[in-house]
Amino acid sequence: MEIGKYSWGIGDRFTHQAESQLKAIIMAKNAGIDIVPVWNKSNREHSFIHSEPVSTRIAADKAVKALGWDGQYFCDADHINMNNVERFMDSCDFFTLDVADFIGKEATEEDIEIFINNNKKYIGNLMIPGIAKPFVITEKDVRDIAKKFLFAIKEASIIYQHIVNKKGEGGFIPEVSMDEVNDAQSPVEMFFILSAIAQYKIPAQTIAPKFTGRFNKGVDYVGDIKQFTVEFEEDLLVIDYAIKEFGLPENLKLSIHSGSDKFSIYPVMGELIKKYDKGIHVKTAGTTWLEEVIGLAEAGGDGLEVAKKIYADAYEHRNEMIAPYATVINIDFSNVPTPEEVNTWDSKKFAESLRHVKTNPNYNPDFRQLIHIAFKIAANLGSVYTDALKRHAVIVGEQVTENLWERHIKLLFGIK
Ligand SMILES: [Zn+2]
Repeated sequence: MEIGKYSWGIGDRFTHQAESQLKAIIMAKNAGIDIVPVWNKSNREHSFIHSEPVSTRIAADKAVKALGWDGQYFCDADHINMNNVERFMDSCDFFTLDVADFIGKEATEEDIEIFINNNKKYIGNLMIPGIAKPFVITEKDVRDIAKKFLFAIKEASIIYQHIVNKKGEGGFIPEVSMDEVNDAQSPVEMFFILSAIAQYKIPAQTIAPKFTGRFNKGVDYVGDIKQFTVEFEEDLLVIDYAIKEFGLPENLKLSIHSGSDKFSIYPVMGELIKKYDKGIHVKTAGTTWLEEVIGLAEAGGDGLEVAKKIYADAYEHRNEMIAPYATVINIDFSNVPTPEEVNTWDSKKFAESLRHVKTNPNYNPDFRQLIHIAFKIAANLGSVYTDALKRHAVIVGEQVTENLWERHIKLLFGIK
């Protein structure tokens, strides 16, 4: 099983929007860009919403059938480990092996020595084709990288093997993710991480590093765009070289987590993958839930009431909402409106405050981030929320499609 060059992580918290999402992918196809849709939902989100992974598969299959999609598509067991992989086994064919929790745990001295030995030839001046200056690598550098990452990669290989035993070699797409950590991985670290991935025989097709800067949920990139550009380009070249050096899958590509809404770096990524003829995977599942709330607000009446209720509850429980997302949100509470204030808003004001259009003076990224992590509140509302989605399916679906197509896909691929 080989994933196509461009792929897009969609999926949504409540599995109501698969068709509206696929519509955006079809619009891309009609514009000449082939994108593989991948419906992803992490274990964390399933737990919060009390849903099972099979529900994502059912929604994806149904959308594919309804719209007559005849291309590839996958269901991604996002951010899984040995503790929770089982519930995804039957319904998923893409597995994101999350090793973030194991980074920094030390491998055995024996494993570290084997790794250093395997990588002896890169000590000294490491030339990566396309990068002008060599990286100067000492044995200590390789040892330090091994100490930080080797145990985690070995752990990923254990999960990988476990899935292979159930689904067979080549029966699924393996991704290795290490994005939910505080420190970005440098291109040199990436090179040796890929060496370890090859040594432990994980045929990874996508890899999700932590990039420099902040990838806060649902809002734009925060960081030094110049530095991001340099790192992203070097990562592409490192991956290219690592494929040849270590015999990794030819289609190995970067996976951008918390990838929705990073509008200021989309043109950078788009141009660089074009320049080097590289693929990309972008995970954007979280952004769709916000479009549901925008759609309900736009609907007015009972829809707007539900949107306001969600906000009021999210505001009240803000501290517990934030805890699981500490590394991926950054809310300035001095800029967040009170529920009393929001209760006075009309549809337009609510929708524009939430919708990610920076040129709109009503847009409030802090309001948006707080609602982004509040899907648990909607889950607790149960049928009050999902019935509202059904009643206002048309206007909600339009928001979902437009957001993915107009603001995301067109921008990344430079479609006019
Ligand atoms: Zn992630």
